[in-house]
Amino acid sequence: MARSDTFHADGVRRLFEITRRVSGSTDLAGVLEEIAQGVVEGLGYGVAAISRLEGEILVVTAVGGPEELREQLVGRRTRASLILEEFKMADHWGILRFLPHERLPSETAESLWVPDLEVSDDPDAWHPLDTLYAPLYSSSGELLGNMSVDLPPDNKIPDQQGRELLEMFVVQAGLALEHAQRREQLSRQVRLGEALKTLAFAVHRDFDSGLRDAARALSEALDAPQVTVRCFPDSVDDPVEHASGYPSPPRAPTLTVSGVRAGLQRRTGEGVLQPFVVTAEGPPEDGDEAVRVVRPHLLAHGWSSCLIAPVGVDQELLGYLVVLRTAEQPTFEDDEVGAVHEAGRELGRLVFDARVRRTETRPVRELPELDRYKGELIATISHELKTPLTSIMGHTELLEDAGVQPASVDAISRNAARLDRLVSNLLNYSRMQGRRELDRAPVDLGDMCRAAVEMLRIQSDAAGVDLELDLPDHPVLVMGDKDELPKVVDNLCSNAVKYTPRGGRVDVRLDADGEEARVSVTDSGLGISRQDQVHLFSAFHRSTNPDALTIPGTGLGLAISRTIAEAHGGTILVDSDLGRGSTFTLSVPLADD
Ligand code: ADP
Repeated sequence: MARSDTFHADGVRRLFEITRRVSGSTDLAGVLEEIAQGVVEGLGYGVAAISRLEGEILVVTAVGGPEELREQLVGRRTRASLILEEFKMADHWGILRFLPHERLPSETAESLWVPDLEVSDDPDAWHPLDTLYAPLYSSSGELLGNMSVDLPPDNKIPDQQGRELLEMFVVQAGLALEHAQRREQLSRQVRLGEALKTLAFAVHRDFDSGLRDAARALSEALDAPQVTVRCFPDSVDDPVEHASGYPSPPRAPTLTVSGVRAGLQRRTGEGVLQPFVVTAEGPPEDGDEAVRVVRPHLLAHGWSSCLIAPVGVDQELLGYLVVLRTAEQPTFEDDEVGAVHEAGRELGRLVFDARVRRTETRPVRELPELDRYKGELIATISHELKTPLTSIMGHTELLEDAGVQPASVDAISRNAARLDRLVSNLLNYSRMQGRRELDRAPVDLGDMCRAAVEMLRIQSDAAGVDLELDLPDHPVLVMGDKDELPKVVDNLCSNAVKYTPRGGRVDVRLDADGEEARVSVTDSGLGISRQDQVHLFSAFHRSTNPDALTIPGTGLGLAISRTIAEAHGGTILVDSDLGRGSTFTLSVPLADD
């Protein structure tokens, strides 16, 4: 009976045991060892070596055969591309690849382990330089490793039956690798998921120490010896760079915004910024700042590769994350790259939020202070101006009474009156800002409209503006301050007349529904652009319209009016079209019956 026949029965028994272990065990090294041993002891090969693919490299992890050979072979590294080249030249025996010694490339022959075997003339005899491989693929066709065997039973090239038996062991080795890969992927995903959660919590607490915690979470989840995160300075509110790293402070090279952006975009084209990997060795990349800066750093510190991911939201690049690995470690898997990308996005959102908060709180912090200052300034200026003005006006009257009428007296009088208006407005404004308590009692808005129109009549006649009043035939009572509320009606009416050119028309209407009274002042005047409407009620704002600017004004009337209206629980709304006219509507709650 040939040796191979005794091995047949043994082989099947071993295979059965192995099959059970492959589906049940989580000890990959042990299972691979058993398969390699099974090929030697069960099928009668002199040696069987199983390698696992780590990145681009096949690393021998299990060897069946003599002890000294095992020591020699375990840990051996071969570029996967070399073996794949050989497969192309090999005979296909099902899933096995047989490369007869005549076709073996000379450079491979040099690096090969060659058994101590005599060369025979028998065409079926095994030649010391014959090689028999079995690539180990996952069920989805991904190369996971390789098994190579030597010294077949009887030192004969395996026959059909022998090949089929070997194939069965190979399938088990492939399955064992695939199971292990799935398990590793799963546990990596769990760890990455945990890391992302930690990261979100960490950065919310305190930004700088949060960045370090984020780096630590990533370093642990990715088993990376160094992770660094940098956030670019924000020119306005946060001009310092925030950087942190784990386990050491930042140890990755400093990249500029343009460097990282160029690196990210170079690899992804237009659109979303994607992470990229720079390796210590590789083809030169002309003009790529990321590679130019990073590669020497990797070489100098013994890192083999680094993964650079954007920290940012959408297209906005706020910083970057660098994950470093050594040559002993596997290269970055797709799910790891995805997790680091997600971590960058998460950090980006947090950095962005922190910046928005800072920008938003800045004006809020400064507002009360500014407001107080403005109030004080207005009060001081107004008082300083009011005193000399009163004196100018008094003396002007004296001059007029004395019959002295030089042309300048008229000018003094006009300008003094104008200054007086300005100062009164300033005083009103600062008083209203000081939130003086209103003195409220039932007042008739009809009376106020009538008084305003009467006061403006001379002015509107002189300006050639038709001023109309439309009142209901009953009083419209609101709870109002009899000194303050008329200022609002006066202001709206006088603006309408002021900003309406000759030949135009102003309509003052009062009406009321069950809840509130409305004074609407409609003019056919200059109108106000949308942009100007936004700031209309801000103190000192005047329209950008050049026609409106030729008409004297202080830009305080509407600010005062709105403050007074609001103090009465009311509103002022504007509806206006540039060049066609405006309607200002004052609404105030009606007094209870
Ligand atoms: P002032 O009239 O003293 O400048 P206001 O606060 O009353 O100040 O008005 C602010 C600005 O709004 C004015 O300068 C003017 O440009 C614009 N404005 C107000 N009312 C009208 C109106 N009825 N028609 C056109 N522009 C107006």
